[in-house]
Amino acid sequence: MGLDQSLWIGTDGDPDCDDIAIGEAVSRSARLWPDVEAAVFACQQNIDEVRWTFAELDALSTRLARALLDLGHSPGDRIAIWAPNHPNWILLEYAIAKAGMVIVAINPLYRESELTYALNASDVTTIFHAVSVGGVSMATTIDAVRGDTPSLRNIYDLTIDLDRLLSGAASDAQLPAVAPHDLFMIQYTSGTTGVPKAAWLPHGAIATISARTYRRWDFGPGDRVCHGFPMFHVGGSGNSTPGSLIVGTTTLPIHIFRAGEALDILEQERCTGFIGVPSMLTAMMEDDSLGTRDLSALKRIVVGGAAVPSPFLRQCEDTFGVEMLNGYGQTESCGVSASVRPGDDASKKTGTSGLALPGVSLKVVDAEGRIQPCGVPGELCADGPGKMIGYGDPQATREAFDAEGWLRTGDIATMDGDGYVTIVGRLKDMIIRGGENLYPAEIEAYLIEHPDIAEAAVIGLPDEKYGEELCAVLRPASPDHEDANTILEWCRKRVSRWKVPRYIAFVDAMPTTASGKIIKHELLPLMAEQFGLP
Ligand code: AMP
Repeated sequence: MGLDQSLWIGTDGDPDCDDIAIGEAVSRSARLWPDVEAAVFACQQNIDEVRWTFAELDALSTRLARALLDLGHSPGDRIAIWAPNHPNWILLEYAIAKAGMVIVAINPLYRESELTYALNASDVTTIFHAVSVGGVSMATTIDAVRGDTPSLRNIYDLTIDLDRLLSGAASDAQLPAVAPHDLFMIQYTSGTTGVPKAAWLPHGAIATISARTYRRWDFGPGDRVCHGFPMFHVGGSGNSTPGSLIVGTTTLPIHIFRAGEALDILEQERCTGFIGVPSMLTAMMEDDSLGTRDLSALKRIVVGGAAVPSPFLRQCEDTFGVEMLNGYGQTESCGVSASVRPGDDASKKTGTSGLALPGVSLKVVDAEGRIQPCGVPGELCADGPGKMIGYGDPQATREAFDAEGWLRTGDIATMDGDGYVTIVGRLKDMIIRGGENLYPAEIEAYLIEHPDIAEAAVIGLPDEKYGEELCAVLRPASPDHEDANTILEWCRKRVSRWKVPRYIAFVDAMPTTASGKIIKHELLPLMAEQFGLP
């Protein structure tokens, strides 16, 4: 190809799947592959086996969409789903799409303050919730936040209430017309300024990108693809579910990721593909049973969501004996912007995150927005059909796009002469722990609410299993402060467990710039040494 500049203009589209409303996509797939299994939940604790064909998924989601309209919900209403992966999550996703309502996807591990924020920031009127997560009753948590969430009027259980809605008298309510540019899904990404940001994703963007992603990975009718992404994340409900739907692949989501169950699904369901984050593959490779498994149906594994070092990719290839593909993207671009292609040569596969999806443009720019020569690192920006509408918050939206309207990814990358990108660092202050994005600002903001903490700096320390682990460096407000364990206990009660630091260190003073900003890169080697890390 021979590019000089780090600019890839994606022109080659895919007219088959462009710009379609998700409800229409469900019905189209039901016409194309009525008897093929669309979604399967199998081999998992706490979830009864479910197998829906495309025709069944279409009929059930239409029935549920009508039931929602009959109950008085209106197109445009914001419906939160607050639950781990479950067959009814998928059904509800497509029912909401057909009823012209908007999904607000919420992490089931959120505690009270996080849930209150997420419900209010998106004006949620209705919530569907699971029974409990980690021993905490979700209904009790919702009860506790009701006084602070004025728009929330309806509370349904994702299993009992939803099954009741489905088994009620069949209605023939007219489904509304839904356009591809209509808002379909709101996904929260943790915020760099301390509060989560709500990325608004329209129907057509989700349909286009998810289908092109699945086609890029060469999945189609006859494939059975297990994925480890939670549905509240764009990788689940925004990419894997609609992507498999549109290309006619069977999707096999995992309820809550456990390596043994994932391997059961791959083996017993004869899966041809697996998609997940690096820590899932690590856990599967460490599982004692791996050597006895028959994974002969498996053709390829897609890994992304966090850095994928070349030695790790090769180790996966050797262990699973299948082709490994690195996929790259973010919530704000509907999950995937670039990926390696099946059959690409080894130098591209192990070193890079691949080539832009058809129709997606990528560029690498310096701090002034000038396009960099090939091979020179800069911020990666993306344009094309997958771009989010914005964040709901105008100021945050302005900052997310450059002067030409390209999405600023906050990732530092290089592009080679063939257009392949390699992620080499991050501009945004973000830590990725096992595929979960953590924004230090959000964690620092809750830490300094503790009366004994005067100042907090959160950094990521290297970790073999999760890539990075959270380390909170704290300057206490007085010498007789509570100890690290008591502070950790306090954290556990306030925030989701993945936001609780693994390491806590106390310092008398923070290293700061002249303007008073904490110099985090100076803390890194100090803390690595203190905790005996490489
Ligand atoms: P999320 O919005 O949760 O999907 O997270 C997106 C972020 O994860 C990106 O902006 C990158 O920082 C990181 N990421 C995703 N995929 C990759 C990859 N293949 N290699 C390196 N970093 C990645």
